[in-house]
Amino acid sequence: MKYLSTRGDATLRGFSDILLEGLAPDGGLYLPTHYPQVDAATLARWRGLSYADLAFEILSLYIDDIPAADLKRLVHATYTEAVFGTPEITPLKPLGDGLALQALSNGPTLAFKDMAMQLLGNLFEYELGRRGETLNILGATSGDTGSAAEYAMRGKTGVNVFMLSPHGRMSPFQQAQMFSLQDANIHNLAVEGVFDDCQDIVKAVSNDLEFKRRHKIGTVNSINWARLLAQVVYYFAGYFQATKTNDERVSFAVPSGNFGNICAGHVARSMGLPIHRLVLATNENDVLDEFFRTGTYRVRGSAETFETSSPSMDISKASNFERFVFDLLGRDAARTRELFGAGVSQQGGFTLTAEEHARCAGFGFVSGRSTHADRLATIAATWRETGVLVDTHTADGLKVAREHRDAGVPMIVLETALPAKFAATITEALGADAPVPPRPAALAGLEALPRRFTVVPPDAAAVKAFIEAHAG
Ligand SMILES: *Cc1c(COP(=O)(O)O)cnc(C)c1O
Repeated sequence: MKYLSTRGDATLRGFSDILLEGLAPDGGLYLPTHYPQVDAATLARWRGLSYADLAFEILSLYIDDIPAADLKRLVHATYTEAVFGTPEITPLKPLGDGLALQALSNGPTLAFKDMAMQLLGNLFEYELGRRGETLNILGATSGDTGSAAEYAMRGKTGVNVFMLSPHGRMSPFQQAQMFSLQDANIHNLAVEGVFDDCQDIVKAVSNDLEFKRRHKIGTVNSINWARLLAQVVYYFAGYFQATKTNDERVSFAVPSGNFGNICAGHVARSMGLPIHRLVLATNENDVLDEFFRTGTYRVRGSAETFETSSPSMDISKASNFERFVFDLLGRDAARTRELFGAGVSQQGGFTLTAEEHARCAGFGFVSGRSTHADRLATIAATWRETGVLVDTHTADGLKVAREHRDAGVPMIVLETALPAKFAATITEALGADAPVPPRPAALAGLEALPRRFTVVPPDAAAVKAFIEAHAG
């Protein structure tokens, strides 16, 4: 399998080449030249497989430059009951009436990003070892992505992580989670500033091309194709659990931010998995809901980006969205370049023609939006009616899922985080006698563990000096 850029860069690349990269050189995103098709016989063969074996089958269709035996070993080392809590890895929790949650949040950081990041950690270690190279990952986080990256890369040979976070501004749980890591290759830098300062420092360091090259600085951002590919697997796993035969159809509802999760659903559907609808749910930051309703994609400024109680969906622009639009436009790279290169970068957005917008339905997409009040009501109603506690992001997905039910079609809502991470909103929704959201045993006493982090001024030079002293 070869990979192309959504903006038409002519050089095709292999999987291992794009694994360690971010954007394509022309500013586009990498996609496979085609989506391998799964027929009825393949689905029948895959139905009985374990999660790891299913992941191996799907990944093999997209990766031909890692020997099969190695890939199999890496996937089996990643998707274990020890790491993800159950033998099914992503079990369904039925809520009645054909509605179910698919548990994607039982990994080490209690959010779905572990599903892809844990595989990425193993792939990075493998590929860097093969090349005899090291990589210094530099990132900024306000919480979730940084901890998923650290838990995936901890102890990995050839990889160091330098993660910037705003000093004293993450939730107590998130601080405890990240700062309690004692691995020598994980470096937490608490910046005396806000999240934007952290991001500015990452940009400044990355723009120093000489420094970047000398210290082999890389990233693990959400546009990485390997992350998206890992997420395709659980759509298949969810489908097999919700159906008995391979001619049934299933819909998926996805709490969305950067469009990574639901883009994996789009890939699964494009491969021939019988997905009826892909229901995209946003919170008050409704860039994507607006697009699917109107055909206009309008990036928000920081004044228009709200801090909500489903914070991992607080985005002003959706970094993976270009991949879907490229497919929507029949893979017209020139038009994609016009919309994202000129349109988004220079005018802050674009509007599709009516004919182009109408094609979204053919791709199964519908959308909706959920507010803080909706979130509280959904958490309360779900608890009352089913005895299941959901987190704030999953609540957004559930609320919008209920608006898009079709008779006789099961609906799977992707559970993207556990309620234990958002205890304050759970109490707000359920009142003073609310149940305490259960925490996995491994995280008991997390807040009391010793912490390892370095406070730095909001200054790129200070961060560079730290990297220089600690880089591998
Ligand atoms: C990252 C995240 C999302 C959004 O996923 P995207 O792939 O960015 O659309 C939703 N919920 C939670 C809990 C997350 O951490």
